[in-house]
Amino acid sequence: MKGANRTGERPPLPAAFVERLERELGAAEAEALCRALDADPPVSVRRHPAKGWPVPDGAEPVPWCRDGYYLPERPQFTFDPAFHGGAYYVQEAGSQFVDRLLACCCDPKGLRVLDLCAAPGGKTTLYASLAGPEGLVVANEIDRQRARALADNVRKWGTGNVLVTVNDPADVALRGGGFDLVAVDAPCSGEGMFRKDWNARLEWSEGGVRICARRQAEILREGWRALRPGGTLFYSTCTFARAEDEELLASFAGEYGVELAEAPAVDTDPSWGVACGRVGAFRTFRFYPHRSRGEGFFAAVVRKCPDAADVPRAPKGRRSLFVPATRNETAELARWVRDPGRMRFVRLNETFYALPEAQADAVCGLSERLAAVASGVELGQLFGGRLKPAPALAFATVLEPSLLPVAELPVEEALRYLRRQEVEAGRFAEGLNLVRSGGVALGWAKRVGRRVNNLYPHSLRILKND
Ligand code: SAM
Repeated sequence: MKGANRTGERPPLPAAFVERLERELGAAEAEALCRALDADPPVSVRRHPAKGWPVPDGAEPVPWCRDGYYLPERPQFTFDPAFHGGAYYVQEAGSQFVDRLLACCCDPKGLRVLDLCAAPGGKTTLYASLAGPEGLVVANEIDRQRARALADNVRKWGTGNVLVTVNDPADVALRGGGFDLVAVDAPCSGEGMFRKDWNARLEWSEGGVRICARRQAEILREGWRALRPGGTLFYSTCTFARAEDEELLASFAGEYGVELAEAPAVDTDPSWGVACGRVGAFRTFRFYPHRSRGEGFFAAVVRKCPDAADVPRAPKGRRSLFVPATRNETAELARWVRDPGRMRFVRLNETFYALPEAQADAVCGLSERLAAVASGVELGQLFGGRLKPAPALAFATVLEPSLLPVAELPVEEALRYLRRQEVEAGRFAEGLNLVRSGGVALGWAKRVGRRVNNLYPHSLRILKND
């Protein structure tokens, strides 16, 4: 558990936090919540809809998310090859509620989404699956190091319709153009994580809540600027602090009231235990761990009036970074993907990418104006006209499965592969192989005679032994 002290004990809840809960919720409700925060958290995952991961025995559906499941116990995810292949994402159940918001408020297919505070990518991967190949998710993260983890998770998810950027929200608003959906999953005081993350208890302070609220207001304003008229905004935090949730939205509504419109109704079942409310045109949803099965979460949804002022035209970018692939290059690259007619093949420096055609112009334009770190499907480099595939291509859902021999490894052997240790040559065909375990693609390996060259990236390898 994160933040355990030396004896492995859970630090107590901050006294000022408990007092505030008692004032806001009353003594009995506050006590029930505090008791829940000292219990064991449930474990939940969200399954990749296209990677065929078999739901484990005893798993129960998360009722508000189509691919969400509670697991009967906490496995060691590090030692599950399917986890490394992006077949599921370990995600707190409350956060999965954005699936419900999306289902009720937008037609997700072809949606252009801005996920403004995106790392490590839990909600980005959900939006990417729902937006499909016609849609685009711009996953922005202000912190460069966290953006790297985000890009890794996006590559493993493999949908190819995500552009990862590292920008200040103000720059995204200025240069991003208008989005159909803007999600502000704001950095917060983390009270909703007090059960899972004991560091959050140690780091919490009343001053911290105030600082978070000021920062959230700034980010929300920038998110709003990036939203097209008629578009939808999601605001969420993982804290119970009203200063960061309802109060913040109330002052936002005071500032932008004429531009706000109600989103369609979001049905919730009473058995889910979600506390639904309103702040002006915002519909709000609170998840309390003593009422709902998950951690603390707050979400809100609103629309921008269709007649609100249009988003300023994005300034012209620098010269295009992507160079179209030549006819010969395209012929080789097209062999590696399913449905190549729906892809545009481009090169950035020496590396080739496949961009879903429906959003390729948008991706090229955005990556000229924003600091992009990953986009589309990274295919790899050409040597003598032949593609040396990038690790990311193995995870991609568009990979043409019949092109190469597949080495299907049992779990222990797959873990050796994921540690970059030597693997038994008998399971590999001569030459390049796609490595899979349980049907989930993990990476590449090349057999040369009796040796297997393990091509799993150093940066992703498993370091833990038990
Ligand atoms: N949406 C993510 C997910 O579902 O996996 C979680 C996002 S986390 C709650 C908030 C993110 O906001 C962090 O990655 C943090 O680095 C980023 N952040 C911190 N300060 C920020 C700022 N001033 N503007 C934008 N993002 C910021």
